[in-house]
Amino acid sequence: MADLERTQRPPRGRLTLLYALFLVVAWLMVATYVTGGDGAEPASYSRFRSDLAAGRVTEVMLEAERITYSVAGDLPVEAGPATSQYQTVRTEDDGLVQRLIDAGVEFEAEEPAPGFLAPLATLMIMLLPLLLVWFLVFRVMGAGRASPMSMGKSRAKEITAETITQSFDDAGGVDAVEDELKEVIDFLKNPDRYQAMGARLPTGILLVGPPGTGKTLLAKATAGEAGVPFFSISGSEFVELFVGVGASRVRDLFEQAKERAPCIVFIDEIDAIGQSRARVGVVQANDEREQTLNQLLYEMDGFEPNSGVVILGATNRPDVLDRALLRAGRFDRQIEVPLPTEAGRRQILGIHSRHVPLDPAVDLDEIAKMTASFSGADLANLVNEAALMAVRRSDRHVHLADFDLAMERIIAGLHRDTPLRGEVRRRVAYHESGHALVSHVLPRTDPVHRVSIIPTSRGALGFTMEVPEEDRYLLSEADLEERLAVMLGGRAAELLVFGESSTGAANDLEHATQLARRMVMEFGMSDALGPVRYTPPAGAGYLGPELTAYWGSPDTGAKIDDEVRRIVDQAQRHALDVLRERRMALDRLAERLQEAEALDGAELGRIVEQAGPGPGQEGFRERVSVP
Ligand code: ATP
Repeated sequence: MADLERTQRPPRGRLTLLYALFLVVAWLMVATYVTGGDGAEPASYSRFRSDLAAGRVTEVMLEAERITYSVAGDLPVEAGPATSQYQTVRTEDDGLVQRLIDAGVEFEAEEPAPGFLAPLATLMIMLLPLLLVWFLVFRVMGAGRASPMSMGKSRAKEITAETITQSFDDAGGVDAVEDELKEVIDFLKNPDRYQAMGARLPTGILLVGPPGTGKTLLAKATAGEAGVPFFSISGSEFVELFVGVGASRVRDLFEQAKERAPCIVFIDEIDAIGQSRARVGVVQANDEREQTLNQLLYEMDGFEPNSGVVILGATNRPDVLDRALLRAGRFDRQIEVPLPTEAGRRQILGIHSRHVPLDPAVDLDEIAKMTASFSGADLANLVNEAALMAVRRSDRHVHLADFDLAMERIIAGLHRDTPLRGEVRRRVAYHESGHALVSHVLPRTDPVHRVSIIPTSRGALGFTMEVPEEDRYLLSEADLEERLAVMLGGRAAELLVFGESSTGAANDLEHATQLARRMVMEFGMSDALGPVRYTPPAGAGYLGPELTAYWGSPDTGAKIDDEVRRIVDQAQRHALDVLRERRMALDRLAERLQEAEALDGAELGRIVEQAGPGPGQEGFRERVSVP
């Protein structure tokens, strides 16, 4: 059990300090040895001879390789600093001893043993390169998490059954997943029943779904419910620079697991080792990953049926997994862990606010409604951020306003405390009012929850936050066209009011172009190109589309570009029409935003209603004519 969580290791900082100290001492020893170590000034042999002839030498130490001597009396200027000890290399000089006797100099001869440091220093010189290699290996292996001796040992953390605190009560909105996992629990608790029936449970079960939906939590809760030990490791922890290490770690992990059966082995990010070998390609062939994967396949095949070890894998990228990994007897069962529905979000909010003192006015149903597309992890974060806001205000309860601010913080980032001024403030106010007004007026878009021109830590100068009223599973072409118009609403407002656009619209253009491209290439929403898909299948990945790679002839490529351009242009015209129609509302919104910096959906609605439709009594003149 080499590398388990329970193993005691000296803290890493202390280790690094020790290494540094060791290297410094080694260096000093070597330096001392090389320079002789007794502080004597180097001198030429001819100088030694002339000092001796001049009667200045008082004492001499003769060694096999060198001569150290002391000089008394006034030194000549060129003798350098006022030191009285010199050292010179010993050369052939037959009459030296006689001359020393003649000069009456006290001298002695010594064995070639330059002090007690010498043997050590010699050893150090030999060991230094080895130490250096050792140190580098240690670093490369992953920031010192293990010693080179334990490189092939598994890095899995074992949590014993008694210390697992999670159960299915801690996971919300995943009832269907829990039902499937209950079978695993029953199997781990009563293997005999399954054996008696000759039934075999899948060795490996793959939990697939977007990030933060609770896959790790569910795996741990399954072990908690079954009362068995839980080994957890991430796929990326197997693979190292050195070929063979990953395979040896897999072997070690499975040995440990078999010893502790019944138990659960959880491999997170399994795509890190299980990526399809075909995908990696010839150029990037990765022997280490391939060997690790082969070892994993081998170990899974080698399991006795009902050995009591259940392997749970998790990934957001099931589409990239090697087919061999999904074959019968390996990860042959997949369980999807989706984003929570509204009811699921309500449950998750309930779980995470169990110990949070909520103000009675906080309605978790409302919050669940407003948080479509939030994962379980996002919701846990939301509750925590809201609680932090309340602590900051020194309040004893968490209010709805705290949730509002927390949501804004999660979606848009922290407020920066440098407000916009002057012309930039005006421009950003019009830009955001443009988005908000188009969104408010068009019927198929999500309602505006908040508009702000407070710069955020993510680099935005302002934002318009729309919050869906209900979960949307399907979007029509008209829905998408209105979405595009909202995205271009900010730029359209700038064109209308200032006669030019600005860099502030770059992000909007990026999103709009990407959406229009998908409409043409994936959704068949262009008559000119027909109901054809022009991009490779996206697979069942959960990390969003891989950017629309093109799958067609160069001619069609040019047509796609034209169609994307047409759709985005049309969306901009649509936005311009809406804003021209409601110019008075646009001006009032921008004015109010400059005063207040932020508006909520209700205030926005009031302003638009008061301004009424049409260009307003004052009328308006466009700065330049825009299409
Ligand atoms: P990833 O794919 O990024 O590894 P994951 O699906 O494994 O993510 P977890 O690590 O299990 O997600 O979730 C992180 C945290 O989010 C959990 O510890 C829990 O606090 C919260 N969480 C996620 N899903 C749920 C859920 N369904 N119910 C309650 N809490 C949840």
